[in-house]
Amino acid sequence: MSRVVSYFKSLLLLELFQGMALTFKYLFRPKYTLMYPMEKTPQSPRFRGLHALRRYPNGEERCIACKLCEAVCPALAITIDSEQRADGTRRTTRYDIDLFKCIFCGFCEESCPVDSIVETHIHEYHFEQRGENIVTKPKLLAIGDRLEKEIAERRAADAPYR
Ligand code: SF4
Ligand code: SF4
Repeated sequence: MSRVVSYFKSLLLLELFQGMALTFKYLFRPKYTLMYPMEKTPQSPRFRGLHALRRYPNGEERCIACKLCEAVCPALAITIDSEQRADGTRRTTRYDIDLFKCIFCGFCEESCPVDSIVETHIHEYHFEQRGENIVTKPKLLAIGDRLEKEIAERRAADAPYR
């Protein structure tokens, strides 16, 4: 039934007219200028900003150095080195993201099997020294530690749609 309804909707261009009605509704209303940065627009829980590496509640880093994020990154922005620990687990010894290369596609986040690498809601940051565009593992872990509460809340808000 829903396929029949959507067929007639597309045939009669109903969604197009709905969109045009919305445009005309706001066409002659007073325009509003957002006073950024004092005012900010609402942000989706899926917003893809500055990266972070997360830990488990016991402090252990989540990343298992599977390198899926490195392999999937279309911009070749991620560089990972790894080694095996004495207890047989594998962890990264180097995890760099070049933010000049990154296109914030979110593929690294989507590919990670342990929710380790994530993109946070932080989009206001800058660099002052050459080389600061390379975000290293300690910096990524520090961002994750600082923002874990917000990261967990945003992932929980988005979970029903995944
Ligand atoms: S967001 Fe996309 S481009 Fe940036 S590091 Fe992740 S996979 Fe690479
Ligand atoms: S961040 Fe995730 S996908 Fe990337 S190496 Fe670590 S565990 Fe694998």
